[in-house]
Amino acid sequence: MIRVSITSLVLILVCGSAGLVLLIWLLGGLRRLHREYRQRKKLSQCPLCFFEFAPTSPAHLPPCPRCGAPTDKS
Ligand SMILES: [Zn+2]
Repeated sequence: MIRVSITSLVLILVCGSAGLVLLIWLLGGLRRLHREYRQRKKLSQCPLCFFEFAPTSPAHLPPCPRCGAPTDKS
């Protein structure tokens, strides 16, 4: 059996808990960044005024809702 003092045991538990919280926080941040990236990929950008909008259908791109310029995904 491994002999561990009560001080070392408390230190291990505190460091382990802090490490777990840090890991969960980092994973949550990565998930948020990935979700924002996926949403950004679906957006179209107007070549004239750089306004970003979500087209209703991916096959047909509507004109820019801000300035009315035709958009094409190229
Ligand atoms: Zn525009």
